[in-house]
Amino acid sequence: MTASIASAVSCIDGYDPEALRVDKAREAIRACLAPVKETETVSVRNSLGRVLAQDIVPAINVPGHDNSAMDGWAVRGSDLGVSQVTLREIGKAFAGKPFQGKIGPKECVRIMTGAVMPEGADTVVVQEICKAEGERITIPAGQKAGQNVRAAGEDLKAGMAVLKPGQPLRAAELGLIASLGIGEVKVRRRLRVAFFSTGDELASIGTALKEGEVYDSNRYTLHGMLSRLGVEIIDMGVVRDDPAALEKAFRAASRHDAILTTGGVSVGEADFIKQMMAKLGEVLFWKIAMRPGRPMAFGKVGNAFLFGLPGNPVAVMVTFYQFVRDALLFLSGRTDDFAIPLLKVPSSMAIRKVPGRTEYQRGILYRENGDWKVRTTGQQGSGVLRSMSEANCFIVLEHERGKVEAGELVSVQLMDTLA
Ligand code: AMP
Ligand code: MG
Repeated sequence: MTASIASAVSCIDGYDPEALRVDKAREAIRACLAPVKETETVSVRNSLGRVLAQDIVPAINVPGHDNSAMDGWAVRGSDLGVSQVTLREIGKAFAGKPFQGKIGPKECVRIMTGAVMPEGADTVVVQEICKAEGERITIPAGQKAGQNVRAAGEDLKAGMAVLKPGQPLRAAELGLIASLGIGEVKVRRRLRVAFFSTGDELASIGTALKEGEVYDSNRYTLHGMLSRLGVEIIDMGVVRDDPAALEKAFRAASRHDAILTTGGVSVGEADFIKQMMAKLGEVLFWKIAMRPGRPMAFGKVGNAFLFGLPGNPVAVMVTFYQFVRDALLFLSGRTDDFAIPLLKVPSSMAIRKVPGRTEYQRGILYRENGDWKVRTTGQQGSGVLRSMSEANCFIVLEHERGKVEAGELVSVQLMDTLA
């Protein structure tokens, strides 16, 4: 996309880069994105987590024939009456080994689950309620004609599209495609996402910490979060707060689909980055009305969409889940609704909050006497990564919301669903 980022976002109602609401930021990002178009063909087994790029239209019915849902006897519904009946067993039908003849009046066939219904039979009576004496099978009254039979095509019907382009392929879809005898599928190519950390204070694992240094943890959380999204990951390491080094890194990253950086977008640091970005591409610097994660940059450098995340470790994760995840799934070609569900749960404690920003507090969803409740993890500083590790959910305190009293319902997002 060459159309300017600035002109795309300026159309958004209520767009204010100095106090941008979370929903507006998400909308602004979406307005600029163009999903990858290229596709490739992969084996069904390798398609897990990929985005489908074709219609899947069954050439066959699944199952291919009417078949038995139970172990028992296949009978003619018209032979069953208001009192018990005794039928003659004339053969057996197993899954994969159909009975070859035809059932006539007062006849039945021993049948196993999955076996094709013999010609003439339309009903299965389960074995537990029948009495067998040699070939004489006595069936009690009260059976319904048509019972315990799975109809041909009840799972998938020939000619009716079952999967659409843009759907993510999960375990269920892999099995469904395989049930049609299809071995390969067309999927969108994987998104290529490059990332690096910025900061003079960052040390890499394997080196001793000098005074004032911290180990670079953001690259590891990003690695984990990106892996769950199924994108191709290009880890570019740590880049110093040095214009020449940063420019080189951005140029190298710009041939990928997206670049994530952490650090360097807070007010004090952003100025020299702003000057450099103006040379390389078009990048907007936002103050988002949220906590944590207020400063963020978004734009385009070369071919790549840039997400300049804050440096604080919790802010990195929150902005990733609230903006980058949505953007990368959209860029990957997903067309299903992948918004993170918001569930309402009572808070077991009061929570401080001022209206005018969206807060993502780290929460613990727990059960008390069988009822689910949520509490915060305590200390909520944006540098306290432990709070993310202790949490199993975000407590999302909406923009307009003020303080929460104990017992009030709050919105939560489960972290385990954040793929
Ligand atoms: P910045 O946004 O660059 O001003 O960084 C904000 C805070 O996050 C500072 O305390 C940094 O030391 C810390 N920080 C920045 N990058 C990282 C990183 N990659 N790993 C751990 N902490 C970081
Ligand atoms: Mg920094």
